[in-house]
Amino acid sequence: MQLVDIGANLTHGSFRDDVADVIARARAAGVGQIIVTGTTIEDSRAALALGLPSTAGVHPHHARECGPDTIPALAEIAGDKGVVAIGECGLDFNRNYSPHPDQEKWFVAQAELALSLQKPLFLHSRDAHPRFSQIVASLKIEKAVAHCFTGEKEELHAYLDLGLYIGITGWICDERRGQHLLALVRDIPRDRLLLETDSPYLTPRDMRPQPKARRNEPAFLPHILRTVARALGRPAEEVAAETARNARQLFGLHESGSSAAAQRPLAA
Ligand SMILES: [Zn+2]
Repeated sequence: MQLVDIGANLTHGSFRDDVADVIARARAAGVGQIIVTGTTIEDSRAALALGLPSTAGVHPHHARECGPDTIPALAEIAGDKGVVAIGECGLDFNRNYSPHPDQEKWFVAQAELALSLQKPLFLHSRDAHPRFSQIVASLKIEKAVAHCFTGEKEELHAYLDLGLYIGITGWICDERRGQHLLALVRDIPRDRLLLETDSPYLTPRDMRPQPKARRNEPAFLPHILRTVARALGRPAEEVAAETARNARQLFGLHESGSSAAAQRPLAA
C-alpha cells in the first residue's frame, strides 16, 4: 500500500517534540508521502523547512493579517520546488475569524498567484458555498482540491462540475456529523478522490483506542481509507492506489516519496 496524505499540519505545536517519529510511523503504516499544509507565511516557511512536499498559503482565518507583503512572500516561498501547491486558502464562513471581504480579497489574490505560477490550489471552504464556487468559476481555477469536504450533495456536485478534486478526512468517521459523507463519496469519480488526515485535527472518532491527547497523525490515514473503501464497497488496496495516483497527478509528486523535497534531510 502506498497512500498519500494530502493535508497534514505537521508544523502544529503538538508535533514539536516528535515530528520525525510521526513521519516514521506514517511511512511504516503505508503512508508513502505527506503534503504539509501551510496556513500563514511563517507556517508555510516552517512547512517547507520540514523537507516534505508542502503548500504555501494563508488560511481564511488569517486573512485579516494579510497585507502588501503577503503575495510577494508567498511567491518567494513557492519558488522552491518543494512547494507543490498554493494554499491553504479559501473561505470560512463558519468561524468567521476574518471579515468576509478580507477572506474574499486574499482568496482571489492567492488563486491568481497559483494561476500565474501554474501551481495547483489547496482550497478550504466551510459554509461558504455558493460564494466559494462563484469565485472558483470566475477565476477559471482548474487544478485544485476542495480539501476536507464536509458539505452536502448539491455542494459536492457544484465542486465536481467545476473540476475540483475532493479531499476526504476523518470527518467521514464521525457518527455525529459525518454520516452523510458515507453515501456522498459514491458520487465522487474515481479520478477525483483524495485522502487526508488534516492532522492534528479531526482524529477519527471511531478509532479504538483513541490516541493520546486525541492528536491525529498521518499514520491514521489507513483508518480513513478503510472507512471510505467500505462506503464505496470496494477493496481498500484499489482505493489506496487510485487516491495516491490522483494526488501524484494533481501535485506533480513522483512515485514512492522521491520528490526533490522528500529527498532532503529533515530539519533539526
Ligand atoms: Zn481547512
